[in-house]
Amino acid sequence: MPLTGHADTADVVVVGGGTVGAWCAYFLRRDGLRVVLLEKGMLGQGASSRAAGVVRAQGGTPEAVRLAQWSQSFYRRQRDELGFDSGFVAQGYLLPCFTGAEVTAARTRMAMQLELGVDVEWLSPAEVDERNPTLAPGQTLGGTFCADDGYITPPRNVTAYAIALARSGVVVREQVRFLGLRREGDRVTGVDTTAGPVTAGAVVLTGGPKLAEVGRLAGLRIPVGGARHQVAVTQPHPDLDPFRVPMVFDVASGLYWRPEEGGLLFGMSNPEEPPGWATEVDEAYLALMRARLDQLVPVAAGLGLRRLWAATIDYTPDHLPIIGPALGPDGPVPGVTVAAAGGAGMMWGPGVARAAADLTQNGFSAVVDTAGLGLDRFDEQGRSKVPADPIALPFPQSA
Ligand SMILES: Cc1cc2nc3c(=O)[nH]c(=O)nc-3n(C[C@H](O)[C@H](O)[C@H](O)COP(=O)(O)OP(=O)(O)OC[C@H]3O[C@@H](n4cnc5c(N)ncnc54)[C@H](O)[C@@H]3O)c2cc1C
Repeated sequence: MPLTGHADTADVVVVGGGTVGAWCAYFLRRDGLRVVLLEKGMLGQGASSRAAGVVRAQGGTPEAVRLAQWSQSFYRRQRDELGFDSGFVAQGYLLPCFTGAEVTAARTRMAMQLELGVDVEWLSPAEVDERNPTLAPGQTLGGTFCADDGYITPPRNVTAYAIALARSGVVVREQVRFLGLRREGDRVTGVDTTAGPVTAGAVVLTGGPKLAEVGRLAGLRIPVGGARHQVAVTQPHPDLDPFRVPMVFDVASGLYWRPEEGGLLFGMSNPEEPPGWATEVDEAYLALMRARLDQLVPVAAGLGLRRLWAATIDYTPDHLPIIGPALGPDGPVPGVTVAAAGGAGMMWGPGVARAAADLTQNGFSAVVDTAGLGLDRFDEQGRSKVPADPIALPFPQSA
């Protein structure tokens, strides 16, 4: 496919050069469409380059599981397809339980996951301790473990999609901001940008934590918010050799960790903090994160930090993705698709992107049944009518 194309005419315009928009643009191009990707800054400058990279098929709903399974299989075949990859490592992911209620919920989830083909197993308390010698012994009531779950390296994922975009011939327009939709009657005919109009018969809107703003520019209400999320990496320690440390998600507190450069990478958001744009590290909350980590992984206590960052993570009120037609005040806007990963863009991003590319072309996707994932599940106040993903990070409930 050619590397060049018209910057002002396309079959599809995709807004947002994060993992969702970029992979969507690539999939559309690979399907033979002419695609222009608009990014107001640089590719990956949003949440996608700042994530922790956790990728888990142990999802809380069948849709979450299917999106993660599709994304994981994409990460695994990238090298063959692209000659480059996002750095996926199947580290194994443990979700320990600390209360009877957590055990009941985990076993119910596990039954659903097994039915969908996830290779997840139940570990007894002794097996948890054996499989994870860095975890303080005798703390858990058991947990679920999936050896296929793992992590990608988010900056490498940005490199992978930049390569895919260039090789496939997507016209990437960085430093160009989407300003609104162009319409004739109820049909979309293109977009307005800071560099002039682009003509196109279809538009995909992404934006991560900025998606509500992108929606406003398009005349749509999209209930996606942003919240501070902190990630830190400890200095190395011999006990934290990756062979001894599965990834762990303490679901109730929202704290997760994984091996990184001989130390631990750990992260979480403060569920009590009002949503908003993250501009600095919250040292007081970092201390609480560390206290919980030190309690569960004693060897981490006292280790220095080699990296620490705060960034804005996207969320939807029910923590589930949005993949569906745009809904304006007068109903659906034909030709416009909205795609959001609900704060799980490393886990679900390629699957969300593939499904959005499918909806744009056929109104249907084989990746996941999108019937329950559209904007019509939210009321006027942005409240979702469906139950929230039970194992998401503990985020605000409204956007
Ligand atoms: C600290 C942190 C840790 C995380 N850890 C994980 C994890 O471990 N696992 C996981 O699954 N997820 C994780 N996430 C979430 C994940 O990073 C996001 O869900 C994902 O990156 C969202 O991708 P996106 O493409 O929708 O958004 P983004 O990556 O934010 O991309 C949106 C892009 O749209 C652009 N844009 C906005 N407005 C306009 C406009 N008007 N015109 C043109 N372009 C515009 C922005 O500049 C941006 O580049 C984490 C996020 C953070 C912040």
